[in-house]
Amino acid sequence: MRCDEQKHLVDDGTHKAGHLLEIEIGRDTMKKAILKGALYVTGGLLSYSVISTAIYKKMAFVQTDCDEGVALTFDDGPHPIYTPQLLDLLKEFDIKATFFVVGKNAQAYPTLIQRMYKEGHTIGVHHYQHTSNWLLLPFQVKKEIEQCARVIEQITGERPTLYRPPWGHLNAFVPALTKNYRIVLWTKHFSDWRIAHIEHSLEDKLVKATKVGGIFLLHDNGQTIGADEEAPKYMLRHLEGYLRKHASTTKFVALR
Ligand SMILES: [Zn+2]
Repeated sequence: MRCDEQKHLVDDGTHKAGHLLEIEIGRDTMKKAILKGALYVTGGLLSYSVISTAIYKKMAFVQTDCDEGVALTFDDGPHPIYTPQLLDLLKEFDIKATFFVVGKNAQAYPTLIQRMYKEGHTIGVHHYQHTSNWLLLPFQVKKEIEQCARVIEQITGERPTLYRPPWGHLNAFVPALTKNYRIVLWTKHFSDWRIAHIEHSLEDKLVKATKVGGIFLLHDNGQTIGADEEAPKYMLRHLEGYLRKHASTTKFVALR
């Protein structure tokens, strides 16, 4: 082989190796950029949803307790079977409660909303549909709240002032979007959307949780995703037992 032929081969090899190295560096840079982008997106989503919820829950504009007594609150209704039974029970013991209603259910059963209102209970907003703020953009949050509030106002003639976000999920923009409302969460939930969680134990759990300052979260509708349809039947049975023993010694109040 001639000397210039050898040189050509060496040059060619070096060129190929250099090219491969460039490709490798290019791939590496791209992988890093994708990873960085994914981290930014994940960080952004977490800040928008989970982290905002954790921070706001500790702030004064979110109510998590009740000074004057024990507040019984019922979410996700009204329901055509369970809500009338619950209203009967509350009437029997002369207890005022707070209902965070789903707008489309309120629209479907306006007479139940009228009855709640006439019997002195407080009615608050729980979105028009049972949607999580973690999955909604700010304009969608506004729409969910506004639509639900409008339904309540059309039925009762009174604008609601309390708001409980479904599942207690807030997002970064919720405080700014709910300036006309008080956000209400709870001191205690009882997982009463699942029959297995309450079938034999809810009454005891209610007794143990009873102290001034408590906001109890219960559900008069089992049609929400993740709930057992008949769960409110068990909730009502236990609530009745609890009220029979404790209604005369505990001060129950509606949130205002
Ligand atoms: Zn709910």
